[in-house]
Amino acid sequence: NLTKYRNFPMVPRVIYGPGSFGQLGEILMPHRKSSDAPIIFLVDDVFEGRELAERVPLMFDDQLIFISADEEPKTEQVDVLVQKLLSDHNDLPSGIVGIGGGTLLDLAKAVAIMLTNNGPASDYQGWDLVKKPALYHVGIPTISGTGAEVSRTTVLLGPHKKLGINSDYTPFDQVVLDPDLTLGVPADQWFYTGMDCYIHCVESLNGTFLNAFSQSYGEKALDLCKEVFLEDLPEDESREKLMMASWHGGMSIAYSQVGVAHAMSYGLSYVLGTKHGIGNCLVFQHLDEFYPEGVKLFRQMQHKHNIHLPEGICASLSDEQMDTMVNVALGLEPLWQNALGPEWRQIMTPSRLKALYEKI
Ligand code: NAD
Ligand code: ZN
Repeated sequence: NLTKYRNFPMVPRVIYGPGSFGQLGEILMPHRKSSDAPIIFLVDDVFEGRELAERVPLMFDDQLIFISADEEPKTEQVDVLVQKLLSDHNDLPSGIVGIGGGTLLDLAKAVAIMLTNNGPASDYQGWDLVKKPALYHVGIPTISGTGAEVSRTTVLLGPHKKLGINSDYTPFDQVVLDPDLTLGVPADQWFYTGMDCYIHCVESLNGTFLNAFSQSYGEKALDLCKEVFLEDLPEDESREKLMMASWHGGMSIAYSQVGVAHAMSYGLSYVLGTKHGIGNCLVFQHLDEFYPEGVKLFRQMQHKHNIHLPEGICASLSDEQMDTMVNVALGLEPLWQNALGPEWRQIMTPSRLKALYEKI
């Protein structure tokens, strides 16, 4: 048997439960190297002035930096943050804690990597380019769906591409899953980020890379998504289940891949800055030919939650922008391979892809 299997790292520690954020101080304590080596908390600025920010267990020279999630993380932004941290402190920090959605989680992973690897961050976009272990890093999601809390990547917009730093050093050393932190997520954002998880499941379960490992997580996540988005669960139960759906959805794609919606959504994001969650939804609604069952359920969920997606997004694109979008999307080979098989180039031609974009 010549099959060579990938040997993946996983998040080694996770604490789960409503209110578990309260234990963060004691979790971090053993990882503090000295009073001069601070813990850096990167926190979504939606929490500025809110109770959560006051509960961050600051000590010594620790720093809490509020960061906006209005735009997806950029390699340049990571480089600036890393330079700032290096100049603000004599010692390397003891660790990096990201508190927020996929945007803040990805930033925290990237900063932890780039504090120990010589920059710029764009040099590491790709697969297995990171040479040295990252600083200790902790992920604390405050909105559920991306799976960024378990994944082996940190997706960054770089000067030439939107691509993750995929490496064995990317996954968090510790994750805190406290469903109470997702209280107060606006309904439309809850839906978009939640659909990211749903679409991960559909793309993983319908992909050619599927195997029993991915399937077991993907099916569980899909069931949880159906409960959350199609039934009428009590709110706390819904928050708990979506948080675990996100985890399982992320685990499912660890050993497979995403597909058509993600490839196309990356193109949208690169050219128009469309955010991941809503971008996936914008694309996915038109993918009946590829995911008939998945799209049907998506429409039911959308209807139940009264979500209206914007239209005409690609109407005013120049030919050049459209070509860039098509090229960015088609550049994501593993995604197409997973979705359509080894002969995918014959199936998804540039003109077919362009026609799909024109529907959005
Ligand atoms: P996000 O982090 O961009 O946040 C979306 C919005 O929700 C923001 O306005 C944010 O301020 C707000 N928000 C978050 N928590 C809140 C709370 N508790 N209360 C009120 N508002 C809150 O959203 P996301 O969808 O979680 O993440 C998208 C990002 O994740 C993209 O950059 C995408 O590339 C990345 N991503 C990464 C992976 C991975 O494996 N690394 C996977 C999928 C997506
Ligand atoms: Zn996604």
